[in-house]
Amino acid sequence: MKLLEERIQKDGVVKAGNVLKVDSFLNHQMDIALFNAMGKEFYRLFADAGVNKIMTIEASGIGIACIAAQYFHVPVVFAKKAQSINLDGEMLSTKIESFTHKRVYDVIVSKKYLGAGDRVLIIDDFLANGCALEGLLRLVDLAGAQVAGVGIAIEKGFQKGGERIRSLGVRLESLAIVESMDEKSGQITFRT
Ligand code: 5GP
Repeated sequence: MKLLEERIQKDGVVKAGNVLKVDSFLNHQMDIALFNAMGKEFYRLFADAGVNKIMTIEASGIGIACIAAQYFHVPVVFAKKAQSINLDGEMLSTKIESFTHKRVYDVIVSKKYLGAGDRVLIIDDFLANGCALEGLLRLVDLAGAQVAGVGIAIEKGFQKGGERIRSLGVRLESLAIVESMDEKSGQITFRT
C-alpha cells in the first residue's frame, strides 16, 4: 500500500534491535485518515472471506481494527493482556512472548465473544517473529472458531513471522512489507 509505505519512509524511525518506531502516526499519535485508508484496503483484500468478527490484541491493534470494522460491519474483540489470570472457565487463555518487551505474558479472551461459528479476521499493527499472531491463532483454535485471514499493517519481512504464518496455510496480507532497514543510515526498503 503506497500511502503507508510513503508515510513509513517519511516518519518512521529505525531503532536499535530491529525496531521500527512509528509513534507519530500509528502507535501513539494516530493518523485517522491513514487508518481509514488501511481499513478500506483490508476490506478490499478480505471482502470475500466471510468475516463475521475482527480480532486483535491490545493495545496498538485496536484502533486499526475498529476503523476496518466499519467497512466489514462486524464487531471487534480484542485479546487482553492479563497481569494475573483467574481462570473461571469463562476465559480462553494462552501465553505470548513480546517482541518489544522481551517477556512472556498471558492473553485472554472471553468465550462469550469468540466461539464456534465465528469466522475471524485477525488484524494487528506489526508482524515480526510471529509470536503475537501465533497466540491469537491459538485463541481462535481454542474457541473452535475459524480464521478467515490475517491483516497486518507493517510486516518486517526480514524476520521470520511472515514465513512461519504463511507456511501454516493462513491467508496473510500485509499492507507494507519492510525488506530491510538500517539503523545507522535510517534507510528503509520495501518488498515489491
Ligand atoms: P511478534 O510477536 O510478531 O514478534 O511481534 C509483534 C508485536 O510486537 C506487534 O504486535 C507489535 O506490538 C510489536 N512489534 C514488533 N516489532 C515492532 C516494531 O518494529 N515496531 C513496533 N512499534 N512494534 C513492534
